[in-house]
Formats: sequence, structure tokens, C-alpha cells
Amino acid sequence: MKKIVVATKNEGKVKEILAAFQKLPVELLTLKDFGDLPEAVEDADTFLGNAQLKARFYAEKTGCACLADDSGLEVEVLGGAPGVRSARYSGRHDDAANNEKLVAELQKKGAVESAAAFRCVLVLCDADGKELISEGSCVGHVRQSPCGAGGFGYDPYFYLASGKTLAELTLQEKQAVSHRGAALRLMAAQLKERFA
Ligand code: IMP
Repeated sequence: MKKIVVATKNEGKVKEILAAFQKLPVELLTLKDFGDLPEAVEDADTFLGNAQLKARFYAEKTGCACLADDSGLEVEVLGGAPGVRSARYSGRHDDAANNEKLVAELQKKGAVESAAAFRCVLVLCDADGKELISEGSCVGHVRQSPCGAGGFGYDPYFYLASGKTLAELTLQEKQAVSHRGAALRLMAAQLKERFA
């Protein structure tokens, strides 16, 4: 069976990717299966650029086909920030600190809420260097007050048109509406075609 390494150390992303690919005829591995690997430096200024960089880097380090996700939150009143810097908006890779910074930036703008979108780009880099790409987005609003305890990252601050945040949804409910869920469905369709 085709082996694919999920190239992320973000546990929230790993859970969502493994759940979406459960029924595919592929064996999914994570970076933990390869012990101590160096970390890819994410210095591109687009989601696609960073996803390609991670997929290529870990495909080379592991010798396996590699699936990378680059994603983030774009907030209208913040001019699209945090964008590709979402993981380290506060200066460190820490969800609580990043959420505090988001609230502080909304306060500075005097915005109780703002239109926002999550974006996700997935790149699968095969061991022979061939690449598959898919994208997804999820539109909604961010607010200064959080709700819900599920999901990860900015989920408690991201409100859907239903009035619920992504953090109030089950994993399956989030997959049905989220940027990553959409990108994963498109990637799964491409993988089925390739490896069926
Ligand atoms: P990356 O690992 O460089 O792609 O950074 C992704 C960052 O974007 C995460 O650390 C979160 O801060 C944010 N993010 C991406 N997807 C989601 C999501 O589904 N929910 C909440 N935050 C997300």
C-alpha cells in the first residue's frame, strides 16, 4: 500500500488529516514515525510556497511521499494578517499567545468583530518529485470573545454564519465546513484516481 507521511507536528492538523483519509487505500505515517528530523524553515510568503517547501523537505528527509498543509487566518480589518504568519503571530508557536495577540489587534482597531477567512493549501510531494495540490477556504467572522473548547488554534474566535465557532463543532462537523476539510476532499479525490 502507498505510504504517505503527514508532514506536520501540529496535532490538530494531524487529527483532521488522518480522519479524512481513513478510507483511502494508503498507509498514513506521521513525522513521529521517523524519530528526530530537522524542522523545515517556513520562509515563503504564500501558503502554497510554504506547503511546497515542507512537502519537498520531508519527502527528501523520509524518502516517502509527503503531504504538507500550510494554512492560516486572514482578518479583513487587519489587512489580511496574521495570514502566513498565523502559527507565530505572537512571536512564538503558542495558540493562547496568538489568540491574545489577535484580540489585542482587534481592540487597537476598535473592531468588536471583523470578516475573516481561513485558508488551507495542501501539497503532496511524491518520492519521484511529482506534486498534487489542493486548496480550501472557510469564510466567517472573528470576534474578541471566544466560544467553545474543541478544535485548535484560532477556532474559538472564528464564527460561522450559523453563529457557532469552529471550536463548538465536532471534528466531523468542522471537516464538513472548514478550509482543511475542503482541501482534503479535493486531495482525496486526486489520490483515489492515482492509487486506486
Ligand atoms: P502552519 O503550520 O504554518 O500552516 O500554521 C498554521 C496556523 O494557522 C496554526 O498554527 C493556527 O494558528 C492557524 N490555523 C490553521 N488552520 C486552523 C484551523 O483549522 N483552526 C484554527 N487555527 C488554524
